[in-house]
Parts: sequence; C-alpha cells; structure tokens
Amino acid sequence: MKKSVLIIYTGGTIGMIRDPKTGVLCPFDFDQISDNVPEIGKFDFKIDSYALPQLIDSSNVKPQMWVELCNIIMKNYKKYDGFVILHGTDTMAYSASALSFMLRNLAKPIIFTGSQLPVGTIRTDGKENLIAALEIAAAYDGEQAIVPEVSILFGSKLFRGNRTTKFDAENFDAFESFNYPALAEIGIHINYNRKAINYSTSTDIHSDLESFTNLSTDIATLKIFPGITDEVVQTICNIKGMKGIILESYGSGNAPTDKKFIEIIKNAIDRGIIVYNVTQCLKGRVDMGRYETSRELLNIGVCSGYDITFEAAVSKMMYLIGRYENADEIKKQLKIGLKGELTKNDVGF
Ligand code: ASP
Repeated sequence: MKKSVLIIYTGGTIGMIRDPKTGVLCPFDFDQISDNVPEIGKFDFKIDSYALPQLIDSSNVKPQMWVELCNIIMKNYKKYDGFVILHGTDTMAYSASALSFMLRNLAKPIIFTGSQLPVGTIRTDGKENLIAALEIAAAYDGEQAIVPEVSILFGSKLFRGNRTTKFDAENFDAFESFNYPALAEIGIHINYNRKAINYSTSTDIHSDLESFTNLSTDIATLKIFPGITDEVVQTICNIKGMKGIILESYGSGNAPTDKKFIEIIKNAIDRGIIVYNVTQCLKGRVDMGRYETSRELLNIGVCSGYDITFEAAVSKMMYLIGRYENADEIKKQLKIGLKGELTKNDVGF
C-alpha cells in the first residue's frame, strides 16, 4: 500500500509574500507553496493538503489553534500515515510542545516545519525543510513509523518538539534541542537516532488516538532579574484567577533569598497557586537545594522543572491545569516526564 501524508498549512514565513503596499510579509495561500515546490509531486506516496481557514503569522497563535490542529489530526488519523504541519517559526516550539501533551497513543509522525525565507524567494530554506519533513512523515519500517512523535524539522536536524527552542532569528539552523539529542540528521542520507526516538506508544499502530483539548490559560510567567521589585512579584502573584506561575530562575534554579520575595511566593503557594521553576539557561537543569538560593524555594513547595524548555513548561502547565482539579496531581505530573520533555524521572509516554 502506498503511504499517504497530510500537509496542514497554518501560515508562517514559508508561505508568505510581500504586501506590495506596505512591504511587510503576510501569509498567502497554499497553492503558491505547491507551485514553488514541484518536487512534492515526485514522491512515490500520496500527499494531500489542508489549509486552515485563517492563515496566520505564528506570533498570533492561540491555544484554540492547537485544539483545531488536534481535531484535524484526530479526524484524519486513520486515513494518513503521517502529518506535516507548516507553521511559523516564532511559536513553533510552543505548538509542537502543546500537541505532544494533548495527544495520546500517537503512533504516527507529526512533523512541524517552516522556514526563515518564503518558498518564493531564491535562497529559500523552505523547500528543503518541506521535502525532508515529507520524507520522514512517510518513513516506515513495515508497520512501524520510524519517528512516531511530535517533532520539529528545521535545517539539518529533526528534534523532539517539546525539547526544542527557536534560538536564532536569522540562521537557517534556527532551532536547537539543548538538553536532548536530535532524532535525525539530514544530510546525503537521513540518519535516524533510533535510541533517542520514543517507540513505547507505537507497538499497536491501530490503537485509537486520543486528544485532550481543555487547556487552561490561567498561567503567568515571572522572569526574575537583578532589581526586580517586590511590587512586580506581588502583582503577578495577585492576578485574579491565576492558577500557575512559571518562575524563570537563574542557573540551576536559583532566586533571591530576601525574605519579602520568599514570603510573596510562599503566600501564593499557600493560596493554591502552583509555581514551576524553570531555568533561564538554555542548557542544563534546575537542581533545587544545590545552593542556598534555591533551598528555600524547595522548602516552600516550588516544583522543579528540571531541564524542561520554557515553551514546553508553558504548554504542560496549560494542559495539566486544564485537565486536573487536584493540585497535588498537577504538581506530581509537573515533576515527571510525560512525553519525554524531561531528562530525569521519565515515566514514558
Ligand atoms: N513571524 C513568522 C511566524 O512565526 C516567522 C517565521 O515563520 O519564520 O509566523
């Protein structure tokens, strides 16, 4: 049987054209992508495409779009062997992380890709990215998908989606997965790193895909910096209806030890707000208790995000707070790897 892949087009630079009046880049229809990448027609598998009714620059992504993507994948899951999602680069890591948490029993590839230059431009990186993503989306060993995960393909690498960060606004290799190896390297051959790919959910490719789409946006982020005032910290902690705060700490999870700061955070935790400690560093992990400047955070009940990316922390919080009422359950799940997003304490997929 011929394999089949569904391309879902959401917008982003890959399909943008320059507005002749304003000179700014705006999303355009899928036809100009397929016209500029005629190679799509040369694959020996079937490729269909679906464009979202509202194409966007991904800076406008909202959780509703993640729900829309889940619904499209759920509806088409049996019909296709893989999915390629064309998405703007700015928030691609957030969307890929979100889908990894929202979908259960995933046994087929879902590959996000996009580009730094539109496909209509001569030096575009969009062509290569799209072609490699399609090839991987249709890559199977018999009934087993080679990459049955939500991933991001960009430049010469394929990464686990919830481990990835956009770290470069200009280079073609714009993404990196600082705390987890690439799932594949794209050169003359596509070299899969099978040890890094998760196969635990794909033993039965016929098991039903499930999605969870009730995400909570009652979260905030508190990025500390030298000189941050108590008023700022207090204001964030006092936002009405707030359920979770991502504390962006220094180094291995450190924050000021001054009494007032700790008191405000403790007070928030005592009022039921969940505080998740994520490091401002791109590489390495939170290790609360290693320094005096993190011991108090541990004592007052801040949860460790270990080596999770900020992007994955945001969508994991939205998912868990949307899914569970019980704060202890949410805290328990924040501290373990649900979809390979943490290095330590992984419990699988
Ligand atoms: N602003 C664009 C977007 O995220 C950037 C890109 O696609 O590279 O949609």
